[in-house]
Amino acid sequence: MSIVSNSLKRIKPSPTLAVTQKARELRASGKDIIGLGAGEPDFDTPDNIKQAAIKAINDGDTKYTAVDGTPALKDAIVKKFKRENNLEYETDQITVGTGGKQVIYNAMMATINEGDEVVIPAPYWVSYPDIVLLAGGTPVVLECSQKQGFKINSLELEKSITKKTKWIILNSPSNPTGACYSEKEIREIAKVLLKHPHVYILSDDIYEHVTYEEFKFFTIAQIENLKDRVLTMNGVSKAYSMTGWRIGYAAGPKEIIKAIAKIQSQSTTNPSSISQAAAVEALNGKQDFIKKRADSFQLRRDFVVKTLNKIDGIECLNPNGAFYVFPSCKGLIGKKDSKGNEIKKDTDFVQSLLENYNVAVVQGSAFGLEGFFRISYATSMENLKKALEKISSFCKSLK
Ligand SMILES: *Cc1c(COP(=O)(O)O)cnc(C)c1O
Repeated sequence: MSIVSNSLKRIKPSPTLAVTQKARELRASGKDIIGLGAGEPDFDTPDNIKQAAIKAINDGDTKYTAVDGTPALKDAIVKKFKRENNLEYETDQITVGTGGKQVIYNAMMATINEGDEVVIPAPYWVSYPDIVLLAGGTPVVLECSQKQGFKINSLELEKSITKKTKWIILNSPSNPTGACYSEKEIREIAKVLLKHPHVYILSDDIYEHVTYEEFKFFTIAQIENLKDRVLTMNGVSKAYSMTGWRIGYAAGPKEIIKAIAKIQSQSTTNPSSISQAAAVEALNGKQDFIKKRADSFQLRRDFVVKTLNKIDGIECLNPNGAFYVFPSCKGLIGKKDSKGNEIKKDTDFVQSLLENYNVAVVQGSAFGLEGFFRISYATSMENLKKALEKISSFCKSLK
């Protein structure tokens, strides 16, 4: 008998973190690896935010805080929802956790009973199904093809909902595809969900501030009749380049918020007091760099999409947000690499690219859609140019 619990056996380690780790190991062994696997902005945390953390340390703001967030941070979050999303919340409808990921984890642990179903549109963020499995739930994968822009089709959504459905998880802008739902598209989804009042909605808005051109962000809690069933998750990781600080939050029904706090009180207690002070400054301080950083991501997206689409066998959509693209490599399946190994599926493609051309990307199957790969372009233009040349040479080398 293994010491490891049965619930843990249901899940696997995060494949995106695994790729980052593999690239790190190859680099340590002396290989010049270009990593396009990482899911975090390459920009530094803005200085005003760092200073707020230093001040918190010097002021002795170094003790346990309220379990689910300091009053100052909850207040800043309430203001953020009002200012940016025109959503009204009381502070007892807000929870703060050690990253958005922990907030999602707590929410699932706090609400899922054995056998409850959670509808997860694919391609999905790698953690959703495994968190649901760990909580004892059943992920119901709703496939969203490239032809649909990797977005939900209302008829198929309707079919995926059963009596056992507890949650549906929405993520716009999306990791891994960059797909963004317009207000109109969210209203279409809402029409279906309004017919099923037993279904709760987890809206993962972590990429809210990484959008391009004239895209106007809209979140499903803005639909008045649905708001009581929506848990809106967000955080400072992506918008403020604060992935290492570990602060995420959510707003939603009091009952869920209270249940989340109960779990947190028996696990991590509270998110870091220093990071919370920094997050207050992030949300209340100047916001001007957000647009500048998004503009710089947009230039990289333009370059990456244009270059990928010039490669025979690769097909890439031009998404409106996040810092990922999700090109198809289906045109190259069945070919052989220079060592004679057949590229039978996306994992072979990704592995051969890493081993023979030193570029790390993540296979689409890790995100629930086979025949694709994810590129994170949250890296310098110089790295992207080098990487795209290598990807292009690799694809041409396949016979
Ligand atoms: C990065 C990310 C998160 C959460 O990140 P944290 O650092 O835990 O706040 C949540 N959802 C998606 C889709 C992400 O890419």
